[in-house]
Amino acid sequence: MASPTASELSSLGSSTSRSGKTPVFVVTGTSGAGKGTLEKALLTQMPDLELAVSATTRGRREGEENGREYWFITAEDFAEKVAAGDFLEYVDFPWGQRSGTLRSEIDRIQTEGRIPLLDLEPQGALEVKRSVPGAVTIFVEAPSFAENERRLRERATESEGEIEERLDLAREQLSQAGEFDYLVVNDDVDRALTELEEIVNKELSASMSRPWSTHASTSCLNKSRSDTPW
Ligand code: 5GP
Repeated sequence: MASPTASELSSLGSSTSRSGKTPVFVVTGTSGAGKGTLEKALLTQMPDLELAVSATTRGRREGEENGREYWFITAEDFAEKVAAGDFLEYVDFPWGQRSGTLRSEIDRIQTEGRIPLLDLEPQGALEVKRSVPGAVTIFVEAPSFAENERRLRERATESEGEIEERLDLAREQLSQAGEFDYLVVNDDVDRALTELEEIVNKELSASMSRPWSTHASTSCLNKSRSDTPW
C-alpha cells in the first residue's frame, strides 16, 4: 500500500493544516531486540520519516557520529537542558547514562513537513504516548529472551557488568509490552520490516481521516524553547 507523503499530510484540510504537524512514531523495546537495525531500514524505505536525534551522556561507540545517532553531550549540559525544560522526556539508566528527546528536534522535523521517528526505551515511549496526542507506539521484541541476550552480547559494545544491567532492565521492560499500540517480533529483519512499514502506512492513512483534535498540534512540545545550537 502506498503511504501518504508528509506533504500530503501537511496539506490536509482538517487533520494537520492548522498546525502543519505530522504524527509522531515511537519505536521502543529492549536493548538488544534489534530495533536500531529495523529503524535504519525503515528510514531508508520511507524517506518522509526522520529520526529525532536524542541527546545522551554516554560515550560515542565506534562508527557513531555526533548529530547522527545522538547528540553526545556532557552530564553538565544534560542537567542544564533538563532544568531549561528542553526535553520532551528523558531517562536515567541504572548504569549512569542519561538520554532524552529534545523538543527542538521534533519541532524542526515537523516544521519541515516530515514525520518524526523516535527510538526510546519503554518508559520514555509511554511518556510520549501520554503527552503527545496521536503518537503511535510500537514495541519491538526479540523472539526469545535468550535471543535478546545473544544479540546484546554479539554487539559487544558494553562491559559485562553493563550487559547484565541491560538484561535485568530488559526483563522488567518486557512485562510492559502490552501497554503499547503495536507489538512486532523481530524474528526476521525483512519480515519485521514489512510489518513495521504496514503499521506506519496504516497509521498515516488513518491520521488523514481523523478529526484535528486526535492528531492535535504537538504544542506541548513548545513548552519551553531555549537557544540550543540545534
Ligand atoms: P543505547 O545506549 O544502546 O544507544 O540505547 C539504550 C536505550 O536508550 C535504547 O533502548 C534506546 O531506545 C534508548 N534511548 C535512546 N535515546 C533515548 C531518549 O531520548 N529517551 C529515552 N527514554 N530512551 C532513549
